Amino acid sequence: MNVILLGPPGAGKGTQAKMLVEEYQIPQISTGDILRAAVKEGSPLGKEAKACMDKGDLVPDSVVIGIVEERIQQPDCAKGYMLDGFPRTVPQAEALDGMLQNLSSQIDHVVSIEVASEELVGRLTGRRTCRDCGVGFHVMFDPPEQEGVCDKCGGELYQRDDDNVETVTSRLEVYESQTLPLIDYYKAQGKIRPIDGVGDIKEIFARVTQVLS
Ligand code: AMP
Repeated sequence: MNVILLGPPGAGKGTQAKMLVEEYQIPQISTGDILRAAVKEGSPLGKEAKACMDKGDLVPDSVVIGIVEERIQQPDCAKGYMLDGFPRTVPQAEALDGMLQNLSSQIDHVVSIEVASEELVGRLTGRRTCRDCGVGFHVMFDPPEQEGVCDKCGGELYQRDDDNVETVTSRLEVYESQTLPLIDYYKAQGKIRPIDGVGDIKEIFARVTQVLS
């Protein structure tokens, strides 16, 4: 099963993807995570991506398309995968369709997680992530027992560089102008599965698994 998780920054794509990995035993492919790892390593890809990411802009299509093309052909993707944060533009979606056609494969579902834009800034700026295990918390809605420390593994919690108000505002504008058109793109293919992304994380997970089953 090949799934795309679509939705604005802060909709909960990463959180749902991590739960879906356990449920369906297929990998999460997060282009944001791959790019952040490259930035941390200081690789040429990381250096190119960092400037775009810090501004809240998108990394060039050619860069992310190359990353995904290589990743989906890895052996752990043979039974399927969940794309989280890709595609983000119509040219990326077209490139994905092209590469899947060459691989005699296709996307089965596009889960569109819907959250009103007023809610997203607070969700993003309060977000904290564990450096070691990647579990997410929120300072208001899901605080850890001890500030700055992961409940699950004791790792250090950090705030993403791009989760400040200014960058979040640009990221939301970029989403509206460049990513939102993908809803119509996948509607035309009959693959959009809209999900209400407001409420308890487990309830949202139940909504997602219902449409995927
Ligand atoms: P995310 O973790 O998905 O919120 O992505 C963080 C940042 O990585 C984005 O703001 C972009 O700068 C970059 N990025 C992630 N995925 C893509 C993509 N599919 N296309 C272009 N840029 C991306």
